[in-house]
Amino acid sequence: MQAEPCPPAAEIRLLKQPLQAQSREGEAPGYAKRLATTAFGLPSLPRWCLWIEPVPDPADRWSVRWRRAVDTALSRWRQQVPVVLVDQPERAQIRILRQRPPRRRTDTGWRASNGRSVLRLAELNRAGQRRREPLVELLISPELRAQALEATALHELGHAFGLWGHSDDSLDALAVHQGADPVLTPSDRDRQTLSWVRTQPNRFGPITGQ
Ligand SMILES: [Zn+2]
Repeated sequence: MQAEPCPPAAEIRLLKQPLQAQSREGEAPGYAKRLATTAFGLPSLPRWCLWIEPVPDPADRWSVRWRRAVDTALSRWRQQVPVVLVDQPERAQIRILRQRPPRRRTDTGWRASNGRSVLRLAELNRAGQRRREPLVELLISPELRAQALEATALHELGHAFGLWGHSDDSLDALAVHQGADPVLTPSDRDRQTLSWVRTQPNRFGPITGQ
């Protein structure tokens, strides 16, 4: 019998201080050197369980459009990253919420953003197994034009899958600043950087003899 791929999490203990700068020698592709890491290595999993906030019933036009954009953006990354969609948030490591991120205070005033990704690290139990996992919450605003919505979802999903930093090239999905045309598909640099992240050893997954 096949094991349940995304059992619910229990006994969750959050770990402090998730992101830190990389201290890396040698070659790394794309914008890999600009990415932040964690005390347990780059926060990547071989397979992600992902939950998307359901469209309310009765459905409204905005929620349906939001969901469509998120699904499309996700499908672009799924060519590279194995994802299992789940219908309960406690089964997921990545949760996507239909919500405008709260404005953030900066040196020059208040800054609004279309999306936000928050990474936490946790030790938890799934199906009786003690594990260490990255837990990611994405806030994606529904109050955007269709293309901006899709580009935002693509960008935030890139963070969730392990790209915790930004590219300085506006043609990349993980660009700090979007160019004139929203990026709706990961670039070769995005893909090379993510595939490097996914091949680096880390200490996420089952906790064994520590
Ligand atoms: Zn970003």
